[in-house]
Amino acid sequence: QAKKNGRGTYRLFTSDLTMAAERWHTLSNDLYGACERGEFALHYQPQVSVSDSSITGLEALLRWHHPTEGLIQPALFIPLLEEHGRMVEVGRWVLRTACLQNAAWQAQGLPKVRVAVNLSAQQFYRGDIVRAVRDALDESGLAPEWLELELTESLTLDDTEVTVRVMEELKAMGVKLSLDDFGTGWSSLGYLRRFPLDRIKIDRSFVRDIVNDHSTAAIVHSILGLARDLNLDCVAEGVETAEQLEHLRRENCAEIQGYLFSRPVEVAQIEDLLRQMQTADVATLPQKKSGT
Ligand code: C2E
Ligand code: MG
Ligand code: MG
Ligand code: MG
Repeated sequence: QAKKNGRGTYRLFTSDLTMAAERWHTLSNDLYGACERGEFALHYQPQVSVSDSSITGLEALLRWHHPTEGLIQPALFIPLLEEHGRMVEVGRWVLRTACLQNAAWQAQGLPKVRVAVNLSAQQFYRGDIVRAVRDALDESGLAPEWLELELTESLTLDDTEVTVRVMEELKAMGVKLSLDDFGTGWSSLGYLRRFPLDRIKIDRSFVRDIVNDHSTAAIVHSILGLARDLNLDCVAEGVETAEQLEHLRRENCAEIQGYLFSRPVEVAQIEDLLRQMQTADVATLPQKKSGT
């Protein structure tokens, strides 16, 4: 609004920047002790089977309940944690919490699902990730097959040999590995060749354009074919419309994640969804339209 008003443009824009810088500074200070004060929480977003709408996995997504600003999204504060070297510690908390939560759900007799945890580059290279994962599994008693670790391409730019070695140690423990935001980086195909992956997650930017853009549809078609040939599972991220789902179903994409089925939600809502899976009262994806 302000920025579009011809004359004062420059001044207003600078003051916007100043405000952003101040906010950044304030939030950085507030982040100290946020973990100890219990201000972090995990929300979970279902990964769903296209064929029968059953939940197969839950991605843990970090949220910060700021005492005065309310709920803050990770895009805003994870870079701050990284900058201040705090992501290793918070990442350990995420791992522990997600594993304890999944073990608790299983202990309640709810249907077994994977829990997927995002890893940052700092955690991977400086945080003794193998130890952190083993501790989280030991403490929670969760069987490793129910934990999946999501890695992104930006993570792996540093040192391929170290990356492969760490990934192999994690695989040897029995946890699953998936490559997040697939297709957005420069060397996606190289990673498929070198890394011991179980799954790829097709980035939301492809799903967004899949219905209207011919090249995007062709790329997704190829990714799914490649995944099949390489024996990798595939989840399409960011599915928001029935049309996108229909397209992915036709392409034999087995699993989706996105607002169409559910946004990331709090623990209590996940428990409702898991309980519904046990009864006839299932939440379902839109069904295949007749004639298509
Ligand atoms: P991501 O791992 O790719 O997670 C998926 C993001 O897409 C989530 O954003 C989710 O809310 C959003 N999303 C899911 N379905 C839809 C959809 O249908 N439409 C749209 N527009 N968005 C959708 P969120 O929770 O804001 O997280 C953003 C990123 O922050 C994550 O991207 C991940 O890279 C990072 N992140 C979140 N939690 C953690 C964590 O515990 N540790 C680390 N290292 N990174 C995390
Ligand atoms: Mg992810
Ligand atoms: Mg992603
Ligand atoms: Mg992302």
